Amino acid sequence: MLTVNAYAAPAANEPLIPTTLQRRDVGVNDVLIDIKYAGICHSDIHTVQGDWGDQHYPLTPGHEIVGYVSEVGSEVTNHQVGDQVGVGCLVNSCRDCENCRKGEEQFCTGGNVGTYGAVDRDGSITQGGYSTAVVVDADFVLRIPEALDFAAAAPLLCAGITTYSPLRHWNVGPGSRVAVVGMGGLGHVGVQIAHALGAEVTVLSQTLSKQEDGKRFGADHYYATSDPETFTQLAGSFDFILNTVSAEIELDAYLSLLALDGTMTNVGAPPVPLSLNVFALIGARRSFAGSLIGGIRETQEMLDFCAEHGVEAATELIGAEQINEAYERVQSSKVRYRAVIDTSTLD
Ligand code: NAP
Ligand code: ZN
Ligand code: ZN
Repeated sequence: MLTVNAYAAPAANEPLIPTTLQRRDVGVNDVLIDIKYAGICHSDIHTVQGDWGDQHYPLTPGHEIVGYVSEVGSEVTNHQVGDQVGVGCLVNSCRDCENCRKGEEQFCTGGNVGTYGAVDRDGSITQGGYSTAVVVDADFVLRIPEALDFAAAAPLLCAGITTYSPLRHWNVGPGSRVAVVGMGGLGHVGVQIAHALGAEVTVLSQTLSKQEDGKRFGADHYYATSDPETFTQLAGSFDFILNTVSAEIELDAYLSLLALDGTMTNVGAPPVPLSLNVFALIGARRSFAGSLIGGIRETQEMLDFCAEHGVEAATELIGAEQINEAYERVQSSKVRYRAVIDTSTLD
């Protein structure tokens, strides 16, 4: 066992505090990673607050992890000591069900193992990346291309794959008219990826305050959803809408922006149920869908795509003692655009 420094929530709605964790011994298929940076995803906040149900505490969040390999098990062939690697939202799955065999481990019918707060195969509770080191099965460790800035690559492990996967699944490319709702951690990466895929990209943000940044990320158009005119002006004009909002929004209004056969996909995961009027779908054969992160193979594909197209997160680098303040700033949509913990501050 290895003792590592970490930050953990002692209970729901309590500030995170410094602590230590035990990491398992490096098994034959495991990789020990010295964590350098860990992004703060809004899902970390939903989870520690108990928005999505009860949790095991103390809980160390963090599923946007990058670092260097410092030890590998005897049977590991795909990673070497010194490699620049990442870990996202998954650290294990059954590997045998229909979905795992397709490389969609996030939909493992036996239950995937999340990077934190999940029951691991040995019965222990997984603990995430707000820490100095982690031991992960080599098959769930990603290669971080050298072309990417290391800190700016960390958020791609969740925000990148969560936006890339649905954009690819719904065939976004040249000629697609895409809207991204909410320009936060996920949204600002989603805009860049949709642009790199060749789509015409519109940001639908609450206000116009981030318009300049949106254009810099590759948005062709930018509208404020606080202005009711936006919804009349853009009615029926998108093929695909990616909703990244962490809170409840009025679905019918957004569905009315889809063209015939258009799809709106929710990746935002608010704590409350959303409702819609089915006539918003029926009237133009529209679809409302959801999407969960992405599988390991697709996550590697996304990292390589981002390296090739210069897609990186815009980051605010913080020390561990600023984690609680960063949580407040995420919740009030003040972070530009992803807070990333420099884990050397945990030492
Ligand atoms: P974030 O950085 O807080 O961004 C969310 C954005 O939504 C905000 O920047 C804001 O954008 C907009 N927003 C916030 N509150 C709003 C409100 N009341 N009404 C309208 N818009 C609002 O969060 P994130 O890390 O990108 O995560 C977004 C959501 O995706 C969270 O619910 C998270 O749990 C979920 N998520 C899901 C998956 C998945 O696999 N499906 C993976 C990761 C995260 P503007 O200021 O531009 O309006
Ligand atoms: Zn996440
Ligand atoms: Zn499976």
